[in-house]
Amino acid sequence: MLHATDEGYDEARSLWNGMFEKHPSIVAKCRGAADVMAAVDFAREHDLLLAIKGGGHSLAGKSVCDDGLLIDLSPMDDVRVDPDSQTARVGPGATWGDFDHEAQAFGLATTGGVDSRTGVAGLTLGGGIGYLARSYGLATDNLLSVDLVTAEGELVHTSEDVHPELFWGIRGGGGNFGIVTSFEFELHEVGPEILTAQVFHHIDDVRRVLEFYQEFMTDAPDEVACYATITRVPTESAFPEAYHNEPAVALVGAYSGAIDDGRPLLAPIAQFGDPLLAAVEPMAYTALQQGDDDGFPDGERYYQKAHFLETITDAVIDVIVEHTETLPGPYSGALFEPMGGAINEVDPTATAYPHRNAGFSFSITGGWSDPDRDEEIMGWVREFFDDLASHATGGVYTNYLAHDEDDRVDSAYRENHERLVNLKNEWDPENLFRLNSNVEPASGGGQ
Ligand SMILES: Cc1cc2nc3c(=O)[nH]c(=O)nc-3n(C[C@H](O)[C@H](O)[C@H](O)COP(=O)(O)OP(=O)(O)OC[C@H]3O[C@@H](n4cnc5c(N)ncnc54)[C@H](O)[C@@H]3O)c2cc1C
Repeated sequence: MLHATDEGYDEARSLWNGMFEKHPSIVAKCRGAADVMAAVDFAREHDLLLAIKGGGHSLAGKSVCDDGLLIDLSPMDDVRVDPDSQTARVGPGATWGDFDHEAQAFGLATTGGVDSRTGVAGLTLGGGIGYLARSYGLATDNLLSVDLVTAEGELVHTSEDVHPELFWGIRGGGGNFGIVTSFEFELHEVGPEILTAQVFHHIDDVRRVLEFYQEFMTDAPDEVACYATITRVPTESAFPEAYHNEPAVALVGAYSGAIDDGRPLLAPIAQFGDPLLAAVEPMAYTALQQGDDDGFPDGERYYQKAHFLETITDAVIDVIVEHTETLPGPYSGALFEPMGGAINEVDPTATAYPHRNAGFSFSITGGWSDPDRDEEIMGWVREFFDDLASHATGGVYTNYLAHDEDDRVDSAYRENHERLVNLKNEWDPENLFRLNSNVEPASGGGQ
């Protein structure tokens, strides 16, 4: 247990998003399931607000609280790969960097996020979008089983065969039902090198590039995942100096099959238009997975809102052009993540993650340092988001909800919400686990 004056307290309560400066009364740094069970009992018996921190990358700052108890799972970062069965057992404090480091030693991987610092836990419990998702499904689709500590402080194992309804809710319903202490994943043969495409265009070309992107992804096989991002031109010698830090539109593609098979499939990304820089080349899979690490430094201020889109229509592009001529804040931008492929082969009600018909996730991120700019930059995100709303599906990825979007939780769970409420009534009727995209029990417990 750590208190405010103890060494390590400040590190434990710090999140990636510097907007959330909170001070829990106690921090329980847990080394195993027994510590988690004891901490849950303590929180329940003393009626303490409970926050749970895995990788600490909650965009909405849900993994820390004022006054209550913070369960810090970061010491539980063990990753054990079984190359024979192509499975991995992963602790809830592991990051995707930890995961890929171990799995790639055997040429194995599963879908993980595109920033190696994010936690396996939070990302998987909400869904888990990444370069491999169109081939192998979301991270959560690759879960074989989990162990979790319930609100009663009991350790429960769940899979398709054991407490199947609970296992259904875990896959997309976040941490609403307990604290996962161990994840078991299916792995696939990937890497150690993977074919990638990296292309930057000046923002003046955004309309043409996004039209191309929509068309390219419509015809792309499942093994191709191409992201489109509105960002800034890097201050590197490979780019004309006059354009450094100017807004840009970048396409980053990956092919998850054999490198030579992918070359003709990724080539059109580099051949299109008049890019500032274009390359199609193999790269270490672990390097691809670290691609976003430098773009969003720890401890800065971030605010993000997201939609799902079926397609990128002219009207969508009009809104994007209008809002991206200048980007407020050094880390601000917008991102298309391609859906489809194996993600959409799963029925929307087969797991708690319902967004199986979307073509793209589109997120708008404000990133800045100076608190005086909070209202200006959050205002830019909100206006951009509002102008796109009528062109979107109405759904949102639970992991992309902002801190002020509790009223959008229904859009995250959609047709699965009622079933999740029933599960919550059974496993956490007092809503002990409520610092998340919260499924409120019918009793409204703990609010
Ligand atoms: C820079 C950045 C890049 C990202 N890239 C991607 C991406 O490529 N793909 C994608 O799908 N998402 C991405 N995300 C979103 C990411 O999925 C979520 O932010 C996710 O919640 C992070 O997980 P974490 O363990 O680091 O978070 P934490 O902040 O530790 O926790 C997030 C939530 O999960 C709960 N939680 C954590 N651990 C447990 C547990 N063991 N049991 C129960 N509940 C738990 C917490 O209470 C909290 O509500 C990104 C986020 C950031 C900030």
